[in-house]
Amino acid sequence: MEKIIIIKYAELNTKKDNINYFLSSLKENIKNSIGEYSIKYDRGRMFISDKSDNYDLILEKLKNIFGIHEINLGYKIDTNDIKEIESNLVSLLKEKTFKTFKVETKRSYKGYNMTSMEVSRYLGGVILKNIKGISVDVHNPEILVNIEIRLNESYIYFEKINGLGGYPVGTLGKGLLMLSGGIDSPVAGYLALKRGIRIEGVYFESPPHTSEAAKNKVINLCKILTKYSGYIKLHVINFTNIQESIYKNIPHDYLITIMRRMMYRISTRLANKFNSKVIINGESVGQVASQTLTSMKAINAVTNMPIIRPVACLDKLEIIDIAKKIGTYDTSILPYEDCCTIFVPEHPVINPDEKKCEEYESLIDYETLINEALKNCVIIKISDKNKEYEDVL
Ligand code: ATP
Ligand code: MG
Repeated sequence: MEKIIIIKYAELNTKKDNINYFLSSLKENIKNSIGEYSIKYDRGRMFISDKSDNYDLILEKLKNIFGIHEINLGYKIDTNDIKEIESNLVSLLKEKTFKTFKVETKRSYKGYNMTSMEVSRYLGGVILKNIKGISVDVHNPEILVNIEIRLNESYIYFEKINGLGGYPVGTLGKGLLMLSGGIDSPVAGYLALKRGIRIEGVYFESPPHTSEAAKNKVINLCKILTKYSGYIKLHVINFTNIQESIYKNIPHDYLITIMRRMMYRISTRLANKFNSKVIINGESVGQVASQTLTSMKAINAVTNMPIIRPVACLDKLEIIDIAKKIGTYDTSILPYEDCCTIFVPEHPVINPDEKKCEEYESLIDYETLINEALKNCVIIKISDKNKEYEDVL
């Protein structure tokens, strides 16, 4: 009997023709996270064995990998012989203290000479005979004994750990995340990663109006997101000249609208250059003046790139719940200024007019300013390890 981690990947099983693509990506992501362990897969399951018994560490990492539905720390028996299963099971259970139990069996090997029900009933009887003072409870057992019968081997496990679900990061291609230091955009990034999108970040800074500390906060948020993605490339755009030019030349009620149109233009150019197929951001309908439907339409008008807004229809409290769960909240609420908040007009327009946006924008030479900002873009590579993934970044 050998200790082993069993991984189940629910939604991936629906990918009939592409299943191998998804599984090899998952395997690659697992390897990048946990290191070189023996990882095997057989239909519906992935198995990880580790001779040096670092299972606790490995489990912690697996809990953050998208594409995994459930993780079990269990035992592998090199045969499906019922007598072998029986003796191993009894010796495992004798180590545990419990009053009630239930046996559940799955057979992927349909040619086995007992049905799943028969295996469960038989092993239940064996357990009752060998361990005193316990009973079966089918509704709320203290210990759920899981048995899996396969072609040449069998597995026993007791605990189920929920995985994050979703698709392996990278399987759906790449997207560019507009990442501010706020609460919403890191959550948007996490949700995009969950659907298999590898993210690169873009952060707009306005020194000296925004500080080095504000930028470091964004880098730290990326670092937290790398727990789920392994690595992230962050593009830092100096937005000062654009912002100051908007501030000097454009009626102040349109400042935010125009500023955001510039951010969209730059993000689109970056996305195309670095092969991102979508832009992702943390906009949430109705949250601020620039997120009314009319504002969103006026801002969106400058790009053909699809925009994914994972938190668009979540309440702020729902977004905060996710931020706390994924570990970004405490960093997000640190009080450093964002370039969106330093030039906030007293009465930002709620229903901007697209024609007026174009008219105002013609007052500045924004193409030149955008080209200059893109030319000066600084790329920061951030990884969950100390060493960087030079080869992939
Ligand atoms: P967040 O909490 O993510 O900062 P927010 O509610 O403060 O969002 P806005 O400031 O209007 O909303 O920004 C909306 C979205 O635009 C952000 O979620 C983010 O995706 C993007 N964004 C805003 N400021 C920046 C910035 N300085 N750099 C990159 N993206 C930004
Ligand atoms: Mg913000």
